[in-house]
Amino acid sequence: MAEKQKIAILTSGGDAPGMNAAIRAVVRAALYFDMEVYGVQDGYLGLKENNIHQLTAGDVGDIIHRGGTMLGTARLPEFASDPEVRKQCYKSLQDLGIDGLVVCGGDGSYRGANLMYKESGIKVVGLPGTIDNDLAYTDYTIGFDTALNTACECINRIRETSDSHERASLITVMGRNCGDIALHTALSCGAELYMVPEIPWSIEEVAERVKWGVLRGKRSMILVFAEGAMSSLTTDLKELCAQHPQLGDIDVDEIDSHQIARIIQVLSGHETRSTVLGYLQRGGSPSAKDRILGTQLGAHAVELLHKDVSGVAVGVRGMNVMEVPFADVQKGPHAADSGIAELVDVMAVMTRA
Ligand code: ADP
Repeated sequence: MAEKQKIAILTSGGDAPGMNAAIRAVVRAALYFDMEVYGVQDGYLGLKENNIHQLTAGDVGDIIHRGGTMLGTARLPEFASDPEVRKQCYKSLQDLGIDGLVVCGGDGSYRGANLMYKESGIKVVGLPGTIDNDLAYTDYTIGFDTALNTACECINRIRETSDSHERASLITVMGRNCGDIALHTALSCGAELYMVPEIPWSIEEVAERVKWGVLRGKRSMILVFAEGAMSSLTTDLKELCAQHPQLGDIDVDEIDSHQIARIIQVLSGHETRSTVLGYLQRGGSPSAKDRILGTQLGAHAVELLHKDVSGVAVGVRGMNVMEVPFADVQKGPHAADSGIAELVDVMAVMTRA
């Protein structure tokens, strides 16, 4: 009797809601194709430590609606820097006769997956598991929709209290290099302003617009700030803070979004409070959209391994599930180029009254 094909799945990097749906889909699709399927605990670390266990259909029951990842996730920088560590990782799979691996994670995890594909002879397929939506080849990553809905719900609450107190609120959302969460959140919450890494912005202009908003009679204003937005700030903050005695204590090299809110308050003369949503955005039961995406992409990844396709990442364009070589995962349009930012501006009417 021919040996069964053996594959494994791991989740790596930042966790994302919907990863469990993807794990479930990989396991059940593998069983459908009569493969043996294994779960690697804690990403590449579990490969290094040989923490790999066979999974059954029942092992992935009752997880589709749960946030996080049942396999755990970890960061293993030595996987990038130390070829001996990578060899040890490959050996753990090879010793078990596993010749296919699904890696669910973000850009960093994909770099690791590509190295493994090139160096080891193991077949590797990537699944986009990250809330940041920062993989350009796919319209959406698993976890993005849930994070967006969570950010929206939080901002709705902040909007109500800001409205009562006639305040502006600067809300920091995740996105170090990618403003997708910030822009989509801004559009869906009716935010007045956004600051994202892809689009240059000046703090004087933000403050000016806050003033215009006050003149227009806006009781509350929501300013969505992507955590990486400092990289696209065009203002010379040292000079600005030197001009305003109230800002003299700000260390511009260590600046954070709370201080950005303070600067906006000083420049606009309008109370501006800061809230950082932080890890709230990572948790929570996945949205229906993320469960469906995780399931579709997980099943497709297994179908590819079944056909001996390797070295690719699966994703979605329009209504279609597709795949691209690992080398192309950052090729494609970004939300910042899609007109969303302009639409936020049109809807917010933050022009001079
Ligand atoms: P994400 O996958 O969410 O972007 P990280 O960037 O933290 O998260 O990457 C997760 C893991 O992927 C790292 O801990 C490391 O093991 C591996 N990794 C990241 N970058 C590389 C790289 N350039 N080469 C090989 N492996 C990498």
